Amino acid sequence: MAADISKNRGLVICYTGNGKGKTTAALGLCIRAAGHRMKVAVVQFIKGSWHYGEMDGIKLLQPFVELQTAGKGFVGILDDKLPREEHVAAAQEALTIAGEKAASGKYDIVILDEIFVGVQLELITPADILSLIENCATRTNLVLTGRGAPPEVIEKADLVTEMTEIKHPFQKGIQARKGIDF
Ligand code: ATP
Ligand code: MG
Repeated sequence: MAADISKNRGLVICYTGNGKGKTTAALGLCIRAAGHRMKVAVVQFIKGSWHYGEMDGIKLLQPFVELQTAGKGFVGILDDKLPREEHVAAAQEALTIAGEKAASGKYDIVILDEIFVGVQLELITPADILSLIENCATRTNLVLTGRGAPPEVIEKADLVTEMTEIKHPFQKGIQARKGIDF
């Protein structure tokens, strides 16, 4: 099938890889788009238990950018005490919310932050993401982030950037910092 290169078709953009900067890149797009008075929806998978600066920072970009957190936090590590079914339910809920926003045609950009991590943790499947892409409103740009983008999604995407870790302060034992990491 020939690629649809229509000028009005939204792009599928993936930020993946082990290096830092995937969510940061997606949030950077929010600022750029808000400057054009475009509508952006961010749906965060996984990130339910920690408080990240963007959860409040994005309110400063209202009414152009909105953010919804649908995850239940870390799965199986750190502070996680939840039964796995709750994470599965939360990921499914995030998927439903994401699918509705992407299909609605109300947004210029829909960002699904950490969605690939949901696949890695087997909370959702690559087929779920492919169907979301398939049902996305024609003009809406989709941005997907997280380590481990599945090959099927990379194949479908228009833009894929893999963040490569060259150095990270964590290697020297420097802990996550406010405003930089969360
Ligand atoms: P950021 O949100 O800072 O753009 P990211 O989205 O690329 O990071 P995630 O895998 O979502 O990376 O990780 C989120 C958290 O883990 C952040 O606090 C980030 O600083 C930290 N982190 C990201 N990459 C690394 C790494 N290579 N080594 C250690 N910590 C990392
Ligand atoms: Mg991230």
